[in-house]
Amino acid sequence: MSTYSYASETVAYEQANPRSAARFAEAQQVLAGGNSRLTAYFKPFPFYVERAEACELIDIDGNRRLDFYNNATSLILGHANPQVAAALMAQAEKGTAYANPTESEVALATLLTGQIPSVQRVRFTNSGTEGVALAIQAARAYTGKSKIAKTEGGYHGTSDTVSISVATDLSRAGTADAPQPVPSSGGVTARTLADVVIIPFNDSETARRVITEHRDELAAVVVEPVMAGIGYVQADTAFLETLREVCDGQNVLLIYDEVQTLRMGPGGLQATVDIIPDMTCLGKIIGGGMAVGGFGGRADIMSVFDAREHAPLIPHGGTFNGNPMTMQAGLATMRQLSQEVYDRINEYGTTLRHQLDEMARHYDVPLSVTGTASFFGLQCTDQPIRDYRSAQGQDRVLQQKLFLHFLNNGIYISNKNTGNISAVTGREEMARFVEVWESFLVKIR
Ligand code: PMP
Repeated sequence: MSTYSYASETVAYEQANPRSAARFAEAQQVLAGGNSRLTAYFKPFPFYVERAEACELIDIDGNRRLDFYNNATSLILGHANPQVAAALMAQAEKGTAYANPTESEVALATLLTGQIPSVQRVRFTNSGTEGVALAIQAARAYTGKSKIAKTEGGYHGTSDTVSISVATDLSRAGTADAPQPVPSSGGVTARTLADVVIIPFNDSETARRVITEHRDELAAVVVEPVMAGIGYVQADTAFLETLREVCDGQNVLLIYDEVQTLRMGPGGLQATVDIIPDMTCLGKIIGGGMAVGGFGGRADIMSVFDAREHAPLIPHGGTFNGNPMTMQAGLATMRQLSQEVYDRINEYGTTLRHQLDEMARHYDVPLSVTGTASFFGLQCTDQPIRDYRSAQGQDRVLQQKLFLHFLNNGIYISNKNTGNISAVTGREEMARFVEVWESFLVKIR
């Protein structure tokens, strides 16, 4: 039982957002659950965006909010970046999609393979979900094995194979050193469940034991090197080293899901820790704000898609894969990302986390801040968070109160109270964020 209440925050939100309330009422009559995307939903109803400029969202009630979510980390240059907009306009005038390749696809692939150590060959999809699903399928085709290992709490999109042990009912999930797979979605069959082995994040010893035990059946180990769902907790280097070591020589592929962590630097997280996977899943920033995903890896693994000499092991199509609108937006974005830009957003992230955490200590409230690089997570606990289990047990009422407090004070973060810095987040926006955090601490202390 929480000692808090978010009733007054809900009332304030409802009062400031009448048009959005009306639109959501309509939406529920035509969209299942009122939306197409759970991450865009929150209680009492989401606000509807009219337009966005750089780091600001303007909703249909005229509210302006600083965007610290950036479409789930994808908008690394913020909204409506002029060069991205110009590239899209120019492409739209020449046609938006053809059943033919364009030079832009080769250019973006050249850029990515030149930057990401593990990616010798890449293919594009339209979502990170698809990118992960195909990387797993490729690993199965290449190794001839069927199981995958994933971390407890790891999020890899919405395909059925990875909709397991994401948000997990711990009463059904076994012990910390022998975690059991639990479906995180309806429609996951017992057969799919039987193909998934769970390892605890940041527990090298257990991961080594579980992977070794199943290595003859394992096609791949899939890991988010920074676990987003628990507030962007970075994997210990020793954990990633262990995964690399146990996969090596066992015909088990190590797959990093860098859909989000590619924004940590030109080569993603793998380049910063220099522990290189066999395959990497991509998404978010590489599409410059357009729908995108991708995956890549060693040339010999990626040859399962090769149709030049014989029928490919995996016949991979997709009407909009590598479409020129996405490729042009991606190129226009990635070409603006100098080392200086990565360094600045990472440094701003570090500064912000430090300030917020210090302030929580100062007001002596049981809140804390996690994260790495440009990512942050606002936690309603002061206990250390290292993995899925240690992130549970937070006060859910306080979490919702915090989220609504930020919304009512002109700041948008994810409905899990996580956020990120983009290249257009300036010192002023950071200062405003700190101010709103402080007013929340004062409110609850
Ligand atoms: N993997 C990770 C680590 C992600 O964060 C996401 C999206 N949040 C996905 C995969 C799925 O990407 P998409 O939403 O584009 O399908």
